[in-house]
Amino acid sequence: MIEFKNVNKEYPDGTKALTDFSLQINNGELVTLIGPSGCGKTTTMKMINRLIEPTSGSVYINNKDVQDYNIHELRWNIGYVLQEIALFPHMTIEENIAVVPEMKKWKRKDIRKRVSELLNMVGLDPNIYQKRMPRELSGGEQQRIGVIRALAADPDIILMDEPFSALDPISKEQLQHDIRSLQKEIQKTIVFVTHDMDEALALGDKVCLMKDGRVVQIDPPQSLILNP
Ligand code: ADP
Ligand code: ADP
Repeated sequence: MIEFKNVNKEYPDGTKALTDFSLQINNGELVTLIGPSGCGKTTTMKMINRLIEPTSGSVYINNKDVQDYNIHELRWNIGYVLQEIALFPHMTIEENIAVVPEMKKWKRKDIRKRVSELLNMVGLDPNIYQKRMPRELSGGEQQRIGVIRALAADPDIILMDEPFSALDPISKEQLQHDIRSLQKEIQKTIVFVTHDMDEALALGDKVCLMKDGRVVQIDPPQSLILNP
């Protein structure tokens, strides 16, 4: 479970990004964070993997303050898919996916097996794709790699910050489909940032509506439609 308890975040220049922010995300849930630009979505995400620290209040994962985790242990257990496609350009697709498993000292054989399995999950033939360089893939394919790279070492939590923003509508639809089926298959806790309401409703078990650094409403999509 991820839990924000009365978190405040004020940046050094005085900007208040989160105000008395509390939120609970259960294990295995996909929660979408939605709200206008600047409402604090990215700040919220980055507090989960400790890229940003609260000014006051705390963030807990499984009832332990994120500050009390070993930073490597914490980050290795949290996959992060960025808004911009961010594959390492000089590495093959296989090498890109293998980065965290290698840091965790997985056996070569297990890594190879995992890479094939992940490529198959998103409909990319490993025989064709694993030896390619990122530049030899379309934008949509690259972002699919971005998603499976975040899953590679089997993290408990996956953070996705507008992973579709750089994609054309068709790739976007394909990847939305992939994420829904991945979620069913792997039952991970996923926090997904978007500013697109259709996307938030389509993907989220729960939708967390944010405004000015606060939670306005958090509900399953159905209830959110009934009580806008
Ligand atoms: P998005 O809305 O796509 O999440 P960003 O996370 O890049 O966009 O930025 C959100 C808002 O935060 C924008 O208004 C941006 O100008 C502002 N912002 C980002 N970084 C800084 C910074 N270092 N200093 C001041 N404002 C920033
Ligand atoms: P969102 O992801 O919802 O667009 P952010 O979490 O990026 O929102 O930003 C929340 C608020 O904090 C915005 O007002 C933004 O301008 C501000 N902000 C974000 N990063 C910084 C920063 N590094 N320094 C100062 N202000 C920032």
